Amino acid sequence: MKILTINNIPIDAEWKKIKNIHLSIYPPAGRAHVSAPIWMSEDSVRLFLITKLNWLKKKAGEVLSQPRQTKREFVSGENHYYKGRRYIMRVIYRNQPPKIEIDGLNHINLYIRQTASAVQKAQALQEWYRRELKIILEPFVKKWESLMNVKASRWEVKRMKTLWGSCNVGKARILFNLELIKKPIHCIEYVVVHELAHLLENRHNSRFKSILDANLPNWRPIKEELNEFIV
Ligand SMILES: [Zn+2]
Repeated sequence: MKILTINNIPIDAEWKKIKNIHLSIYPPAGRAHVSAPIWMSEDSVRLFLITKLNWLKKKAGEVLSQPRQTKREFVSGENHYYKGRRYIMRVIYRNQPPKIEIDGLNHINLYIRQTASAVQKAQALQEWYRRELKIILEPFVKKWESLMNVKASRWEVKRMKTLWGSCNVGKARILFNLELIKKPIHCIEYVVVHELAHLLENRHNSRFKSILDANLPNWRPIKEELNEFIV
């Protein structure tokens, strides 16, 4: 990895066996990353980046505004993500315990007491997200434990800032980031395979990658997709 600085913007650059140059911005810090084909010179990569300057600044701004977006008000009309799709929230007041449901293709309904604060609304949504993510994770963990012949002693869903998942190899304990519920199912499955693969290989070395290749041959574009910011 090399850092190229264009207009005072640091960009992580990597040369890989790929066909096309690819630029992404990664949350949470809005860090730019360029993957270039091996045959491409550093000057050509710099030139490419210069042509993308406006895009870079715009995207970096969007990513940086993400933490503010998560401090939402939980009012009708807001965007909320679920399984890789964007839904428009509808807040419906009623004097019963909170409930969340997907309504059709475009709406997420939040049923809640009118007296509820934004924090309480956020909690209701988080709890629902957590339950939904566990429902998705459970069969994936079982399926891949059996296919990869490994066993996690325990897995949990946690709120994490920078990682999609983590694996304590010694204790065979796996954590999944609650934010995964906002990503497409195949991305969630990739994280399951990735973390279980750590039970066979601790580091992200070539052995680790060959374990992923053997189990989930299409993992590379899925990984890219997972780390791309959803506009
Ligand atoms: Zn890893």
